[in-house]
Amino acid sequence: MPFSKLGLRKPITQAVSELGYNSPTPIQEKAIPAVLAGKNILAAAQTGTGKTASFVLPILEQLSDGKTIRKKRVRALILTPTRELALQVQENIDLYAKHLPLTSLAMYGGTRIDAQKQKLIDGVDILVATPGRLLDMMFQRAVHFDELETLVLDEADRMLDMGFIDDINKIIERLPSERQNLLFSATLSKQVRFLAKTAIDNPIEISV
Ligand code: AMP
Repeated sequence: MPFSKLGLRKPITQAVSELGYNSPTPIQEKAIPAVLAGKNILAAAQTGTGKTASFVLPILEQLSDGKTIRKKRVRALILTPTRELALQVQENIDLYAKHLPLTSLAMYGGTRIDAQKQKLIDGVDILVATPGRLLDMMFQRAVHFDELETLVLDEADRMLDMGFIDDINKIIERLPSERQNLLFSATLSKQVRFLAKTAIDNPIEISV
C-alpha cells in the first residue's frame, strides 16, 4: 500500500518520499488510519519498526488544519524516557514537517531552562519532552496545555523502568481530559497495561 492511500495530505507524503520511504511499514499501515480516525491506541512496537513516523505523520495531518497559523499553543505532547530519544523524535518531526508551517521543541533536563522557556513563548505546536523537565516547566507555569489535542507516551515500558510513573501521572492529571491518547511500548507488560488503563479510555490494540 502506498503512503498516498493512508489519508495523509500532499506536503506530508512529499516529505516522506523525499526521505526515500517507498511504502509504509506494518506499524504505520495499522496505526496511521487509526490515529486519523481519532482512536486511542495501545501499540506494541520495537524501535526500528518505523514507530516514530506511525504517530508523527498522523499528528502532522491533524495539526495542519489551519488552526496552527492563528494560534501557537502546544497541541500535541510526546513524552519520551530520555533526552536522546526526545531529540531523535524532534528531528524526525522536523524532517516530516518540512513542508508544513508547524514548529516543534525538544525539552529535557540538564540544559538551561531559559532558552526552552523563550521557545515556548515564541510558539510551539508539538512538544517532545522528558517527564521530569516537563513537570518543572508546568510547575513554573511556563507551559500551557489548554489547546492540547493529543498525548503520546513513547517507549512507555522504558519510562516505567526509569521510575517516571509518578511524574507521568502528575502530568496527565493536568492535561485536558478531552484528548486523544497514543501509547507505544516495546512490550505491553502488566505495568504498561496498568498505566494505559488509568490514562487511556477504550484503546484499540495494535501489534507488529
Ligand atoms: P523508528 O522505529 O521510528 O526508530 O524508525 C526506524 C528507522 O526507519 C528510522 O531511521 C526511519 O527514518 C526509518 N523509517 C521509518 N519509516 C520508514 C518507511 N516507511 N520506509 C523506510 N524507512 C522508514
